[in-house]
This record gives sequence, C-alpha cells and structure tokens, in this order.
Amino acid sequence: MIAHTNEIQMQRAAMAGKIVAKKIAVQVQCPMCTHSVPAEAAYGGRRATVLRGQKCTRCKSSLDASSVLFERAAA
Ligand SMILES: [Zn+2]
Repeated sequence: MIAHTNEIQMQRAAMAGKIVAKKIAVQVQCPMCTHSVPAEAAYGGRRATVLRGQKCTRCKSSLDASSVLFERAAA
C-alpha cells in the first residue's frame, strides 16, 4: 500500500509540473467597445486567462474583464 501511495504522489507531482502557465496570443472581446482585439493570455491547464493590465487597441479601456474568444497561436 505504501508503494501505491508513492505512485499516486509521483503522478500528482508530474501533473503539477505540467501545469506551468505559458503566455499565448489570443483574441479577446473588449468589454467596452465589444470589438475583438489581440491580447496576451496565460494558458495553464485547460483554459486561458487574460493577463492583467492590458489595454484595448481600439478604445484603450482595460481588458481585465474581457474574456478569451479564441487562441491565435502559441507565442
Ligand atoms: Zn475596446
């Protein structure tokens, strides 16, 4: 049973190692002007989250509240 527990811990550690957020280029929908604009997002695991402190290229409003429309390509 001890060996079995260690095996589970190893698997968990390996999984945790994979979930290293990487920066990717995405299209997001601006919450103010509703246009889709390019932005950077952190991709870790299953979904991408928009990096904080970015501004819309059209209306210069904050993109913090925007949601990722789709991923463009790995940066
Ligand atoms: Zn905008």
